[in-house]
Parts: sequence; C-alpha cells; structure tokens
Amino acid sequence: MTGFGPLSRREFLSLLSLAGLLSAASPSTSGCPVEGHVIVVGAGIAGLAAARALADAGVEVEVFEGRSYVGGRICTDRSLGFPFDLGAAWIHGPDGNPITDLAARAQARTFLTNDESVAIYDSSGQRVAGETIVTGERRYREIIRKLEAGSRQRTRDESVAGALQRLAPDALEDPLMRYFLSAYMEFDTGGALERLSAAEWQNDEKYPGQDVLLPDGYDAVTDLLAQGLTIHTGTAVKAIAHDAEQVVVTTADGQSHAADAVVVTLPLGVLKQNTVAFTPSLPARKREAIRRVGVGVVNKVCLVFGEPFWDVETQYFGYQSDVMGKYAYLLNTRTFCEVNALVTFAFDSYGRTFEQRTDAQIGREVMDTLRTMFGADIPAPKQTLVTRWGADPFAGGAYSFASVGVTRQDFEALAAPVGNRLYFAGEHTSAAYRGTVHGAYLSGLREAARIRQWLTA
Ligand SMILES: Cc1cc2nc3c(=O)[nH]c(=O)nc-3n(C[C@H](O)[C@H](O)[C@H](O)COP(=O)(O)OP(=O)(O)OC[C@H]3O[C@@H](n4cnc5c(N)ncnc54)[C@H](O)[C@@H]3O)c2cc1C
Repeated sequence: MTGFGPLSRREFLSLLSLAGLLSAASPSTSGCPVEGHVIVVGAGIAGLAAARALADAGVEVEVFEGRSYVGGRICTDRSLGFPFDLGAAWIHGPDGNPITDLAARAQARTFLTNDESVAIYDSSGQRVAGETIVTGERRYREIIRKLEAGSRQRTRDESVAGALQRLAPDALEDPLMRYFLSAYMEFDTGGALERLSAAEWQNDEKYPGQDVLLPDGYDAVTDLLAQGLTIHTGTAVKAIAHDAEQVVVTTADGQSHAADAVVVTLPLGVLKQNTVAFTPSLPARKREAIRRVGVGVVNKVCLVFGEPFWDVETQYFGYQSDVMGKYAYLLNTRTFCEVNALVTFAFDSYGRTFEQRTDAQIGREVMDTLRTMFGADIPAPKQTLVTRWGADPFAGGAYSFASVGVTRQDFEALAAPVGNRLYFAGEHTSAAYRGTVHGAYLSGLREAARIRQWLTA
C-alpha cells in the first residue's frame, strides 16, 4: 500500500495543503527550492497540475505534448465564432471542487446550470408531461437502488444491462427509463450499459452542487496553469526508458531527454494502444489494469442556427431515442450566451458507430431528430461541428469507466508509481473522481507531492 493510496478526500486535501501543493498557479512558493529535473508527458490538466506544482516548488520541469495545443481533453474551439468546448464543459459539483477555485483565479465567467429545466420528447416528437417525468425519475432512482442492493448480494460482477435484466427487466423496454439510463448513466460514466460494471459503476465520489459551465471556454483554466511553464507542443513521446539512475524520454523526432523522474499522463485510451514503448515493460498489474478499465466514447455535435426554433429559456432537451446513446440529450446555448446553438451527444456504443459516419451524415441524423421534436419546417443549421474522441490518436476515447469486473484497485494500479522514476497521473488514475477534470487535476497534484517527497527524502 502506498502512502497516497486509499486516502479519503479530506485526508488527501489536507496532505496536499501541508505539502504546499494547493498553491497551483500562484507565483509564490514556500520553503527552499527542490532540486531535480522532471519530464511531464502530456499537457492536459493532470500534466499541467503536476508541472505547475513542481515548478512552483523549484523543480526544473519540461512538458512534452503531442498536440499543437495545451489542455488535451479540455479544448475550446472558436472556429464557429464563439467558444465551444469540444471536450470537458461542466465543472461537475462545483462546491469544494478545486476547479471552481482555479476558474475563479482565471477570472473565468461561470454559469450555474439548472438540471430541472428540461423538456423531454418521446420518439414520435410528443412532449412528455411534467408529471410523467417526475414519476419516471422516482422510478429511475428506485431502479438504481435495486441495482446497488442487487450487486451487493452478488459475488460475481455483471454488466448494468445484465443486472437490469434480472432486477428490473421492464426498465430496458420503457422508453423513459431508457432515456434516463442513457442521459444520466451513460453520459455520466461514458460507458454503455452492456460494458458498465453493476458493482463499481458509481463507486466513486462527487462534489456537491449543481454543475457549472464556463461560457467563455474551459481553456481559461488550463491556460492559467500553463503560464510560464516550459511546454514543447507538437512533440509526441514515443518511448520511456528508466533504470535506477535516470529516466530517458524519446520523442517522435528521435531526440532523447534524460531526467530524474517522469510523470506519465498519457490517457488510458493511448496506453491501451501501446503506441508509447516502456523499457522495462510496465508491471503486469498495471498492464492488466490498462486492459481491464474501460474507456468510453462521448462525442458532441454543435449545430448553429440563424434563429432559435426552440424555447430559449429551457436549459436541456431530452429525446427518447430508439437507439441508446443516440442524441438523447441536447444543451441549449441560449441559456448562457447569445448564440443560437444546440449541442447534442453520442454516447459509448452509439458514439463509436457515430465516428464511422461522415459529418454530413451525422448532421442529417441530428436534423431528423430535431425535426421529430420541433417540426418538419425547422431551418437547416448554418454551421455544424462534430467531435471524434475515439479516433483521436492522442485520446483514444472520452473518459475512463469501471467496466465489468473492474474494482477501485484497478484504478489504484493505474496510479501506482513504478520505482522512483516513473509516476502516473490522469483522470483514469483517480479512483474517487475518475472521468472528470477535477479527478485529473488532483491526480497531477498527487504525483507532484509524491515526487517532491522523494526528491527531498
Ligand atoms: C467529450 C468530453 C466531454 C467531457 N466533459 C466533461 C465535463 O463536462 N466535466 C468534466 O469534469 N470532465 C469532462 N470530461 C473529461 C475530462 O475532459 C477529462 O477527464 C480530463 O480533461 C482529462 O485530463 P487528463 O490530463 O487526464 O488527460 P488529457 O487531457 O487527455 O491529457 C493528456 C495529454 O497527453 C497528450 N498525449 C497523448 N499521447 C501523447 C504522446 N504520445 N506524447 C505526448 N503527449 C501525448 C494528449 O494530447 C493530452 O494533451 C469530458 C471529456 C470528453 C472527451
């Protein structure tokens, strides 16, 4: 068991506080500079958090990033003429969440969302009555409680879909339950019901509070962390070799870079693809966890219209799609900015099918859904933007989830360092906050604290 393993959030945060590592992005450092040279692989929020904390402690830090930009799965696109987050958009549970603090320091404008502001349509385009939604949500919560109780009684894990077949078989036939399962569970976890572990899918932690959006772009947070750091963008890492003396990182241009330690924040989807060679090979337990833990696919489609044809006051629209994960949820940008856009999503199983389609095909599919919901005469979009996180070689998916058979120990195995030279961070290394920006951020701080402790031992 490592000193940073199964700590509670409170213990973990006070540990970081003590280590002076919650001062990320603040120019001041406490104590003497820590000597050492650390390479961070990946300039997503986990890598930036680690690099920032180490640099603030006086460590010489270099970040190698394969993409042309900083932020990774936090990526604000402005090609449509307004900030649109292709990856993370919400601060999930803003109360006590470290990203809330970072957003405030970055002076990023925030918008408190309202989950209650939702209009749901059935597959024929009829609006579902408010009363039916309320009763349905109650039933959904009961089903979740049954799932929890049912999985506690079993010795063998099973998929959420399998458990539902046993415990609430009619849920999978009921369009409203299918909608909740898709819009809540599949979206939240990133995994399809057939792949999600019934025992582990929600064995993580959440901060309280209604989610918050950053209308001017989530990149304010990553830009803040990146300030003043040495970051080599467009520099993919191909190999990482380590021994008792040093670690050597080789980049795609064939250059080798030696350091005292490396923080590997390669996404789980990239680790699964084996495109970065480790010498010696990673330990068997870590390789097993890389294989076992799932990576879901969540994709977005943003459609910009000349005029709104929907109620501009309603935050979200729901659609009881016949296909799970297919455009079941829509975000109305008019609730937080002047742009007439609807953003919809394709989750895991459908997210993968979606990536095989062309942008034009996807645009037609979404418009078919919108015409069913809002009428045949709605105008065509002026602009459409589509993401493909699964096919992205620097992501290999959206975020990690507990697939069947996975336990918290698998996430801890992903986080475990290898000797004193090789450290691992990233959302997939956070058992408590997997799949989130704050999980990734805290994992970067965790590894910075670990390295700092080793360098000063
Ligand atoms: C569509 C989508 C929506 C999401 N929505 C939310 C949300 O609303 N709220 C939330 O909290 N979370 C959300 N998430 C999850 C969140 O974005 C991630 O958990 C978090 O950003 C991951 O940070 P990271 O640093 O672990 O990984 P990354 O951001 O992926 O950083 C890893 C970095 O490594 C780089 N890299 C990869 N391979 C190499 C290589 N060979 N050499 C060098 N560099 C390499 C990558 O380019 C990347 O920059 C969403 C994700 C997606 C995809």
